[in-house]
Amino acid sequence: MDVGLGTLLAHDGGTQSHTGAVAPPIYQTSTFVFDTMDELLAAMAKNPAGPPYHYSRVGNPSVELAEKKIAALEGTEACRLFGSGMAAISSAILSCVDAGSNVILVDTCYNPTRVLLRDYLAKFGVSLTMVAGTCTDEVLDAIRPETRLVFLESPSSLLFRLQDVAAIATACRERGISTAIDNTYSTPLHFQPAKLGIDLVCHSATKFLSGHSDVVAGAICASRERIERITRNEVSLLGAVLHPFSAWLLTRGMRTLQLRLRQHEAAGNAVAAWLEDRPEVARVHHVSLPSHPQHKLFRRMMKGSSGLFSFEPKVQDADRVKAFADRLRLFGRGVSWGGYESLVIALPVHPIDYPEPRWIVRLFCGLEEPEDLLRDLEQALAEIAP
Ligand code: PLP
Repeated sequence: MDVGLGTLLAHDGGTQSHTGAVAPPIYQTSTFVFDTMDELLAAMAKNPAGPPYHYSRVGNPSVELAEKKIAALEGTEACRLFGSGMAAISSAILSCVDAGSNVILVDTCYNPTRVLLRDYLAKFGVSLTMVAGTCTDEVLDAIRPETRLVFLESPSSLLFRLQDVAAIATACRERGISTAIDNTYSTPLHFQPAKLGIDLVCHSATKFLSGHSDVVAGAICASRERIERITRNEVSLLGAVLHPFSAWLLTRGMRTLQLRLRQHEAAGNAVAAWLEDRPEVARVHHVSLPSHPQHKLFRRMMKGSSGLFSFEPKVQDADRVKAFADRLRLFGRGVSWGGYESLVIALPVHPIDYPEPRWIVRLFCGLEEPEDLLRDLEQALAEIAP
């Protein structure tokens, strides 16, 4: 039966029988035994993740349940889960490059993705070209004969810049270049990049997908052929797999993804619009605001936004910006986002098209009452009054 994404989240598709239990069991096992050696050897030769399972580094039923759900949501043939979002991102990149390859990357992406490509993979002879990504021609003009991968993050971390994902994916496919995207912000409920031709859709499932700040996990959604290759190589050889209990928490968290996302989005939109009118604020970076330079692209491309955005205070004094963050009571000072609780981080950013670094404050609106979040922000804004 063809069902909506909310229904996919609630049900497991009748793929497994758990003796009637509505909460699936946790297969907390490292290994699986067989009646005969022939059966074991056949399972080992088959390798990719599904049954017959033989070893939980390669495949485990609790992990596979969550993988099937995420693949169905993204509309891809398959999904592989990892022990973190960075394990998924690094595996996706490694699956596309050799020594001498070039990768094109959006410069305002999640910082460890940039550090992986700029500093770590450089020692294996992988070169990096950074682009702002807001203009498709800029991305395509950066392509060189040795370019193997274009890695997108839309909206990007901290500044929430968009890329025209369909245009870039189509052009790269024509040139035989792989494309990957970090889709953590949108989740498949608000954006399904594989349907626009992106080859590898990555997630930090630590964020909205699990949603309760109690799991670190990552995912790659892609064709069966790519996922089988990644299972044989990056999963089996590097081994950054998700544990069954974390997969179980992820499955449980995803049941309420649609409801949570609606609340985060409503709170984020209300708080961003309120901040935009405040005298302390120079600029708010939230895709849902008509003042966002790519607001039309957001409306055309995505089904919704979220509670994650940033603003640039008029006051650019580091101590005062940090004092604002310190004075917040409901927003905890911390990295990450996508859980139930509101979070704040203040830090300087320096994208390639800014003449100098700017202090920004990134806010994540959790599941608290939006009116309470506004009152908390109001009392703290006194620290950055112009
Ligand atoms: N991508 C984005 C946009 C993130 O914000 C993060 C984590 O903050 C990651 C990827 C990395 O995910 P993880 O922390 O699960 O490795």
